[in-house]
Amino acid sequence: MTERLYYDDPYLWKFVSEVTSCEPIDDTTSRVYLEKSAFYPTSGGQPYDTGTIEGRRVLDVYVDEFGDVAHVIEGSIETGVLAECLIDVPRRVDHMQQHAGEHILAGVMYRYYGAYTTGLHLGALDSTIDCVMPEGRMHLTQEEKAFVEAEVNRIIRSDAPIKCWFPGEEELKSLPLRKAPSVTEHIRVVQIGDDEFCACGGTHPKATGEIGLFKLTDARPDKGKLRLTFVCGERASRLFYRLYEDVSKLKEILNVPEEGLCRAAQTAVDKLKDAKHEANMAKCRMAEAVIRNELKGNEEVRFVFEDIGPEGLKAAADAALAAGRTALLADKTENGLNLMFASPKGGPDAGKLLKAFVASNGGKGGGSPELARGFCPDKDAAKALDSLRID
Ligand SMILES: [Zn+2]
Repeated sequence: MTERLYYDDPYLWKFVSEVTSCEPIDDTTSRVYLEKSAFYPTSGGQPYDTGTIEGRRVLDVYVDEFGDVAHVIEGSIETGVLAECLIDVPRRVDHMQQHAGEHILAGVMYRYYGAYTTGLHLGALDSTIDCVMPEGRMHLTQEEKAFVEAEVNRIIRSDAPIKCWFPGEEELKSLPLRKAPSVTEHIRVVQIGDDEFCACGGTHPKATGEIGLFKLTDARPDKGKLRLTFVCGERASRLFYRLYEDVSKLKEILNVPEEGLCRAAQTAVDKLKDAKHEANMAKCRMAEAVIRNELKGNEEVRFVFEDIGPEGLKAAADAALAAGRTALLADKTENGLNLMFASPKGGPDAGKLLKAFVASNGGKGGGSPELARGFCPDKDAAKALDSLRID
């Protein structure tokens, strides 16, 4: 069995080990086994370490079916060689920060809300855990989210020691583990401060202060559980820098101080809504005027608008109906042709007319004898409107 060096020293970035075997996987990669390894294999939701073995890039590290640590490398290496091994430090430190932050978050959720956490996923951008809450609860209030975040950050700032060891059977029974271990033997325990005890084979910093910062970025129901999304350490700092940059730009755009930002954004959105509504109303009035003009001396009106919008089209149809006439209307947009056919009671069947039009011009739609709607992807189908026969 591979001796796992990261158990005793998670800061061992450089080590030398004998290569016990190297077998080719394909033309460019090999599977390497070492006598001892500080490379962390993907497990417990924490991804594998990268780095180099005797200068060859490490592409994957996993635990094989016999419990040994397998390293996938670029190229190959001779068996028996004493290989110099280097861990990619920023990647590992990042994983340690996310992983240890997750322990503290899970502990807070357990102690304050009785939540059992499952399914840590440490992603490339952020991480998630799923919480099973009492009485099937699947949400946190705004205040609770703020509390969880503050409490996790308080524990980080307390710089509580993080200790990992393999307790004996008797000692293990006496430890207040947050949840039952997923393995039955060779159980390793991590203790964070005085509160968090959990079985874990992962890599952790020596004290919580190294996690730096915690930010809860989302909390929402997912498949019957509460899913919490978060970032820690350098990731949380980068998020803060980025958001601060965005807020600074917004302050410039809206020309307001930070405390007035939300109100200014809301006012801008409200004004935009009002302007859109005004523009719609103007389009409707224009559509009505066009139709009243087109109706002069005609039994029915056929007209193709350009970007009058669905409300404009309806206003035009209503104007024709108010005069007791049939209207075959279209609206040319960037995406195609919107159709609206309307007929007064006892007049030609608008639904049948529309179906006939889309059948011969490509498109879909339908409706009642009084009002029908449709769409043709081909804008040029508008030309066929004039030749549609009304029996
Ligand atoms: Zn852990």
